[in-house]
Formats: sequence, structure tokens, C-alpha cells
Amino acid sequence: MTDAAETPGGDEYLAAIAGIVADVEDVAAELARAQVRELRVLAAAGRLAEAQSAHADANVLLHDMALRSIAAEVAGAMRMTDRTVQRRIGEARLTIEGFPAAVAAWEAGRIVRGHVTAIVDAGVNLPAEMWAEFEAVAIERCERDTPNRVRGELEILAHRMHPRSFAQRHEQAASGRCVRLVPGRDGMSDLIATLPTVIAEGIHDRLTQQARAVIDTRAERAANSDVIATDARSTDQIRADVFADLLLAGTPALDDTRDTTAGPVGAIRARVQVLVPAATLTGADNGPCDLAGRSPIDPATARTLAGATHVWERLFHDPTTGVTIATDSYRVPSGMRRFLQARDQHCRFPGCRVAAIRCEVDHTHDHALGGKTELANLAHLCQRHHLMKQFTAWKVRQRKGGVLEWTSPLGRTYREDAPTPAVAFTPAAALPEDPAPF
Ligand SMILES: [Zn+2]
Repeated sequence: MTDAAETPGGDEYLAAIAGIVADVEDVAAELARAQVRELRVLAAAGRLAEAQSAHADANVLLHDMALRSIAAEVAGAMRMTDRTVQRRIGEARLTIEGFPAAVAAWEAGRIVRGHVTAIVDAGVNLPAEMWAEFEAVAIERCERDTPNRVRGELEILAHRMHPRSFAQRHEQAASGRCVRLVPGRDGMSDLIATLPTVIAEGIHDRLTQQARAVIDTRAERAANSDVIATDARSTDQIRADVFADLLLAGTPALDDTRDTTAGPVGAIRARVQVLVPAATLTGADNGPCDLAGRSPIDPATARTLAGATHVWERLFHDPTTGVTIATDSYRVPSGMRRFLQARDQHCRFPGCRVAAIRCEVDHTHDHALGGKTELANLAHLCQRHHLMKQFTAWKVRQRKGGVLEWTSPLGRTYREDAPTPAVAFTPAAALPEDPAPF
């Protein structure tokens, strides 16, 4: 065994490691200063948006529009999406303004970024007037250990320091109850309900009991007859079916008018929107139809749903492609909509990736101001960017070939080319006359 210092080059080796460690420390300090600086800049952007809209009679929409517009301007420079920048502005303000001592300790190299995140995450559960007291204790704890180790402790600390009882806090949390719809793949979606735990457990338990009852009855019948059971649904599937059944057809007990007539809540029926191409209505086309631009449904169902509705509109077709290029009405016909979906693929605001099927078709030059319903004046925008176009100083013009030219309030322009199609069609004439012999 030889000592490291006695091996050939041992001293040099140790010196090299020492050099690397010193460099790492330097870089970490530099990085921390830069990260704090970035947070301060982002927080300033948030304060600017607030100041700009302070006179707007506390109008929530206008305040949000000012923030969105600034976030989009900053996003262009940071090469990020405006959504990401807006979220980071919010986080930056919370950290810089809410936990200044933690930021100072980070800047001084006493703690690292992970510590600050842990302090903010745990501290934010406390009332704002307690943040200073909390971070003082938390910083001291953080100096002695890694972020991973202190995270749990900080959460417990915040929990202990909390002046309000669990019941009071639950009451506040329960005010955030909601139901959200998240579109998924292959014509499926997730319906997510955020509820007090007892209610969520209750719903799940009732669905489970009913699913078991269905399965038990099925097994009993199968045992007592020669008929082969056709119902092979799993517990999960039956739970989902019962859930849908109850919500689509059941009358809510919450409807306080249900004792007299079918009250307003009980009388409301589920509603979906279907777009049916003209050729499908006449039976000339048997392609699938759009269920509110979300997922395809079969043409027979679409024709039944369309029923006795007769709406006639003048449509202008491109004679070679058959694509509708313009119409007199404000409404965008489904053929044009499909073309636009294929052309745009996603929201056409710089950097945005919201799928076209979840976007709105916007008249680039406002229809109310004389903008036509034609391909060269239509583009997909998600709801967020549609609102931004309407309510902020961001401007857009449509160039040839579906190119959108966005101009920010600062006057910077961003060219948004139409995305490259995922599927390319080769004209028949371009194909070789004799296919290769394989
Ligand atoms: Zn968008």
C-alpha cells in the first residue's frame, strides 16, 4: 500500500482535485448570484404589470392581460413559452417578496437554491405575516443539511407553527373544490374531481359496491342458467359505467326544487356539439365526424343527431383540392376547419403548442371589422392567446401561405410559419409510371 502523496503524480492529482473543487465553488456562487438576479428581474416584471393595471378598477381580467402581455414579451427574449414565464414570474414574486431572508442567505452562499425552494414550499402554507418568523428558523436548519433532508422537517415545522386548526384550514381548502376535464388520446378524456376526502372516498365506495353487485348478480345468473354471460366488464369498467350513468341521467339531490317539478338543475341534460360535413349528411361521405373538434364519432350517429336541421350556406371550393376556401358566414365550415387543423396543427402564437383541436379558429382581421371567413384570414389560437390578441397591444397580421406575423408591444416581430405537415401528399403526376419491381 502506498500513500496517495507517494504515488507518481499523487500530489499533482490532489492539487487537480482541489482546483476542481475550488472552481465548482466559484461557479456555484456565480450561478447563485445570477439566479437571484433572474428572480429579481422576473419579480420586477410582475410588479410592473400590477402597477400598469392598478388603475383598472381592480379588473381581474385586465390585470391578467397586462401580466400575460409582459410575460409574452419576456418569453420572446428568453425563448420560452409565455405560460412558463408567467408561472415563473409568480414564483419569483413569492420568493423575492415573501422570503427575502432566505434569498439573502442564498446569495451569501449560506444555503442553496434547493433550500430556498423547500422554505418557500413549506412556508407558503402559513399566513403571510408568519413567513419572516418561519424563514428565520428554517434557514438555520437548512445550513446544517441538504435540501432533501430538511424538506420534511420544514413541512412539520410549518404545520406546528400554524395558528389555525386543521378544521379551519380544511374549510378553506374545501372552497377550492372543482371538476376538471382533461382531454386524452383515442377519444378518451379524464374527468377529475377535487373534493373533500370523505366525499371522494364515499363516491368511490358507492361505485365499488354497485360494481360488485353487478358482478355478483352476473355470477349468480351464470350459475343458474345455460346462457353464456356476455357481460365481461371488469370492476374498473363497471365503476366508470355506473359513474357516467348516474351523472348523465340521475337527478341531483342538491336540486331543492326537485320535490315539485323537474327543477332547473334536475332538468338540465348533457349537451355535446357535433360538426357534420355536408357530404356526410347526404350520405355521400361516410367519414367520421367531429365531436366538438375533440374526437371522431361515427357518421350514422352524426346524421341522426343532425336530424331535421337544414342550414344552407354559400361555400367557395378550391376546384383542385376541394377545400372550402371561403364562406359568407362567420361560422367556419367543418371542411375549412379540417384544412386549418391540418395546416396549423397547434395554436399559432409564438412558442405555443396547444393542439388545434383544443383551439378556437380566429379571424386574423376581425370579422366584425370586415375580415372575411377565408383561409387566408383564419388561424387557430388557444383561448389564452385569443384573449391576448383581443385585450392587449400584441398585434398579428396574416401573410401568404398562412404565415403569421406577430408584433409585440415593444415592436419586436415574430414570424410564425405554418407548421410542416406531419403527412405529405404526393401529387399523382409526380409518381413514377412503373413502380419499382419489389
Ligand atoms: Zn396559444
